Amino acid sequence: RAIFLLQYDVALRRFDALIGTATDPAIRQRASASRINALTLARRYEEAFGGLNTMLERLPGLTDPNAREQILGISGLLLAEVGEYEQAIRYATQLRDERPTPWTRCAGSVLILDALAGQKRLRADDPRLIGTIQECEDSGEPLPAGLARSLKISLELAEGKAAELLPTLTREYERIRATAYPRLVSEHEVLLATAHLQLGRLAEARRHAGAALEAGRGQQTRPQVDALHLLYRIERAAGNLPAAIDWLERHYEARQRFLDDVGVRQMAYQRVRSEALASRLEIETLSRRNQVMQIEQRLKEASLENTRLYLALALLILAIVSFSAWRIWRSQLHFQQRAEQDGLTGIANRTHFLAVAEQRLRQAEKTRAPVALVIIDLDHFKAINDTWGHPAGDLVLKQAAATWVAELKSGEWFGRLGGEEFALLLIGLEPAEAQARAEALRKALSHERVDLGERSIHITASFGVASSDTPPYGLRQLLVRADAAMYHAKQGGRDRVMIAA
Ligand code: GH3
Ligand code: MG
Ligand code: MG
Repeated sequence: RAIFLLQYDVALRRFDALIGTATDPAIRQRASASRINALTLARRYEEAFGGLNTMLERLPGLTDPNAREQILGISGLLLAEVGEYEQAIRYATQLRDERPTPWTRCAGSVLILDALAGQKRLRADDPRLIGTIQECEDSGEPLPAGLARSLKISLELAEGKAAELLPTLTREYERIRATAYPRLVSEHEVLLATAHLQLGRLAEARRHAGAALEAGRGQQTRPQVDALHLLYRIERAAGNLPAAIDWLERHYEARQRFLDDVGVRQMAYQRVRSEALASRLEIETLSRRNQVMQIEQRLKEASLENTRLYLALALLILAIVSFSAWRIWRSQLHFQQRAEQDGLTGIANRTHFLAVAEQRLRQAEKTRAPVALVIIDLDHFKAINDTWGHPAGDLVLKQAAATWVAELKSGEWFGRLGGEEFALLLIGLEPAEAQARAEALRKALSHERVDLGERSIHITASFGVASSDTPPYGLRQLLVRADAAMYHAKQGGRDRVMIAA
């Protein structure tokens, strides 16, 4: 409303307030666009072009379609006014094609035609001009339709067709006045005055030229300048020379001011554009430098990552190799243990016991340590099997072995020779000490009771001890002698220790 009342400062204050307080981005964008329009009308061209440039740069991010269209429209209009017709056509085309609404199509087309006329590339009978007038009227857009018609008429008048035009112009008159758009009204009054003047109707010409001045309300626009020149020509044609001179002076003044304005606009436009260009170049340089830095950074990160990956890979391979090695080692150990252990009691089996015993005897020969071998045989074991069953026999075997293992001292080598026979190798012990060890084992077992569920039983074993302190120590002889001593223990009543001769 303030713009319609030509109160541009009020309008600008309102727009600034709205831009500062609106939370809806669409409202802000539209207020910014309208503000540029108001700046143009207030002839604050430098600010207008500055704002316009900023908004054009932000156009890709401008989301509100109305704001976009307004910006494109103002760009087309302003750029045509400062003679930047090519650019004006570009923005007008964008406006026309962006969102096909009646208004955008119509306004875009009119702006394109206006710029073409400015370039003197448009004739009154151009089908695009006629088509646009038709299209704007059909879609109910009186303002662009009126502008296009004015454009057509001014081109026709320039071609000297006043007589043909006057009826149309007169018919249009009320409709144009009804738009209350000063620029459009004053333009139409100028056209009417021109036509009347061409036809020698000076009174009508004078009336319309005066109305053109009135409609513009002292604005420095092209129709104003044209109206003053018309008044000069009218008075001169009327032979009213002092008045003619008066109008001519006023026309020169107005034209000077208008040209100054256009000059200001063009200067403002050029300055703002070169500034915008410079800042864009600067931004591009900066962003390129940034890109280079980012790429370098990414490269560094990538090579660091590669190093990490190699390290991780190496560690993984190492882990896999170590793990497989460990598994192989473990399974070998497992097999070895299974090969050396007695399955029932978990102590050394016959083969392993004999192999280790051989090694220890060889070592004892070197240190000249005395040796002793004890053979142990459970008493009446067959009877246990027969009475309580084979599983009970197994239990007795296990418990006896466990009892003796618990009784062993470090360095004493113990194993199962087979069946219910066990053996103990003692290194560095005199015969009496060896006998004492055998006695200790015998006592340990005799205190033991094996729980067979229904009842617990008492078990005993017979011990035969063979000693030697004269190397070489033959394992075989020791076994034979110990076995003989054990046989004597059986014969002597069992549950006792006998020493070999
Ligand atoms: P003695 O007091 O004279 O030594 O009599 P014994 O019954 O202990 O001796 P004998 O050699 O007649 O019997 C040994 C029995 O041990 C024969 C066999 O069935 C049994 N035996 C051997 N190995 C195992 C075993 O691993 N488990 C079980 N349950 N019995 C076994
Ligand atoms: Mg036996
Ligand atoms: Mg036995």
